[in-house]
Amino acid sequence: MNARVTGVGMTSSRTRARMIERLRQQGIRNESVLAAMNEVQRHIFVAEALAHRAYEDTPLPIGCKQTISSPYIVARMIEILLEGRSSLGRTLEVGTGCGYQAAVLGRLTRDIYSVERILPLLEKARTHLAALPDLRHVRLRHTDGSLGLPLVAPFNSIIVAAAAVEIPRSLCDQLAPGGILVLPVGEGEQYLYCIRRTAQKFVEEKLEAVRFVPLLTGLEK
Ligand code: SAH
Repeated sequence: MNARVTGVGMTSSRTRARMIERLRQQGIRNESVLAAMNEVQRHIFVAEALAHRAYEDTPLPIGCKQTISSPYIVARMIEILLEGRSSLGRTLEVGTGCGYQAAVLGRLTRDIYSVERILPLLEKARTHLAALPDLRHVRLRHTDGSLGLPLVAPFNSIIVAAAAVEIPRSLCDQLAPGGILVLPVGEGEQYLYCIRRTAQKFVEEKLEAVRFVPLLTGLEK
């Protein structure tokens, strides 16, 4: 088989279907999340040389010392956001990276902002998203997401793709009542946290151990 045909095989809808099967085996149950991930061609978001590995359950380099999260962690975090709810509503993603998770989120909500502090990554993400149908509504911004997006808050869902040292107060404050924030927290050891805003307070839940790049402040051009 020549390289081109192999390449097509590795990035086909069958390969994606196998990824979805694996996510089910790993415990992902939310059918909307699985359907969204089945629709988004993950290989579009990684460098051509890595496209054949795009559907493996692994993070991959995307340039600027950053990584695209593994399919499982993307599915798991969005599933947490949807727990007990039928929609994501107004959503903020912090850490656009290559735009893959923004694309999956964009299949699940029409009202989404994704912010990235490294400009070249944001520009690449814009190109990737434009290559897929029906994602024109995903709004990308070059800004420091640790401060959230105060001008468009409150959000029903906030998802952070980089590990914070502690839970950022500004992100909690930008949750709407009933809203959910999911993010990795910690310096050496990191854990996934889920914070729900009720009418009166914030309810914090510590979940499994994870591994993410750090949430940094300031912008890179
Ligand atoms: N969701 C991405 C994952 C990218 S990795 C994907 O699907 O590819 C995490 C990203 O968070 C990196 O691109 C990093 O530059 C970005 N990041 C880190 N700190 C940030 C901050 N304060 N504001 C915005 N983006 C940030």
